[in-house]
Amino acid sequence: MSHVFPRHTKSNLPIAVAGDGCYVIDAVGKRYLDCGDAAVSCLGHSDQSVIEAVQDQVGKIAFAHTGFMTSEPAEALADLLIEHAPGNLDRVYFVSGGSEATEAAIKLARQYFLEIGQPERRHVIARRQSYHGNTLGALSAGGNAWRRAQFAPMLIEMTHIAPCYEYAEKPDDESSYDYGQRVANELESEILRLGPETVMAFMAEPVVGATLGAVPAVEGYFRRIREICDQYGVLLILDEVMCGMGRTGHLFACDHDGISPDILCIAKGLGAGYQPIGAMLCTSKLYGAIEEGSGFFQHGHTYVGHPVATAASLAVVQQLIQRNLPTRATEMGDVLQNALLEEFGQHPNVGDIRGRGLFRGLELVGDRATKTPIDPSNGTAAKIKKAAFSEGLICYPMSGTRDGRHGDHILLAPPFIIGNSEIGELVTKLSKALSAAV
Ligand code: PLP
Repeated sequence: MSHVFPRHTKSNLPIAVAGDGCYVIDAVGKRYLDCGDAAVSCLGHSDQSVIEAVQDQVGKIAFAHTGFMTSEPAEALADLLIEHAPGNLDRVYFVSGGSEATEAAIKLARQYFLEIGQPERRHVIARRQSYHGNTLGALSAGGNAWRRAQFAPMLIEMTHIAPCYEYAEKPDDESSYDYGQRVANELESEILRLGPETVMAFMAEPVVGATLGAVPAVEGYFRRIREICDQYGVLLILDEVMCGMGRTGHLFACDHDGISPDILCIAKGLGAGYQPIGAMLCTSKLYGAIEEGSGFFQHGHTYVGHPVATAASLAVVQQLIQRNLPTRATEMGDVLQNALLEEFGQHPNVGDIRGRGLFRGLELVGDRATKTPIDPSNGTAAKIKKAAFSEGLICYPMSGTRDGRHGDHILLAPPFIIGNSEIGELVTKLSKALSAAV
């Protein structure tokens, strides 16, 4: 009889007792190839340098409240992140996960406009079919209809424009580029509708993760978004909680798009699962407004800048950089994409195989020609998750890809240390799971 409050009351979970590279091992010795529960494990489950960094820091000082003191690992990690961060990002606000990072981003945007004397700026615009976290502010920004539904009466009013979702939403007679510009221009229309003087920020994932299944924007989309934000003085918040930290081939995902945000959120791969950590990075301009204004960000949690969490993360980011792992993610991502195409490229229920780096998605359909989704009553994603897990494969299937109800996809986000034989194992196990489910 367990007293843990689980995610699902009817699930009977195995107990994870050990990690070995890309594998999680349960109490009866069964090995599960971790190809992305939620895109956390980028270094695998037994990276000695991170384990030692955690042990070393706990032995020195585990906790010191940031209202009174800073710590060596927090300072070193902030320096390292800023050394590699795009644009004018200059300050790092450490938190304990992705939702805390996006919440902090929304609040910083608001406080920035108060500091510079534009208190009427209060609206956040985000995109449909996106996810920014589960706390109420983050959930309000997210456009995941299913996740929002039951909390809708409590959510903060934010508006949502179209995602950049080429496979399902680009008409055949429009070029990718034109499609991207058109959907980016929805931001301008929405700013004008709300009144430019009232809009404070636009928030988006550079590569949409759990909700759409690894969907990058088309060429030119984010450059147009950046232009529109600049024109109307709206802050650009990029949520790289899932796609950042090397997963899509760059330490910061937006480097691919050639733009930089005013605020950037990271988590997941930042701690690689060794510690719960997230971070919000902001530009010197935003930080300066607070420094020269009220002098403090009216926000905070007990565990911001936790010494053990930042020590683990420092070791993780050092590994990512020293071993050039974002480039490895690109290379192994190509291997994975080719293996997926070979196995599922002609599969009658696989409509699209997409993504960037080691962040891949397969969109499932009932009919490839018309791209019609599978009947939602089949519960396809849930069946695949169960069948894959029983084969010894952890992946992240989701339903509601198209509109929160229709559509299914499988998200794959294996550790960057994955090798060719493990990619073979992944494809074989996924193939069995797919056959069992559709
Ligand atoms: N933002 C994105 C893009 C995410 O994918 C997630 C989690 O999946 C979050 C925010 C929330 O992160 P967390 O679950 O660590 O709070």
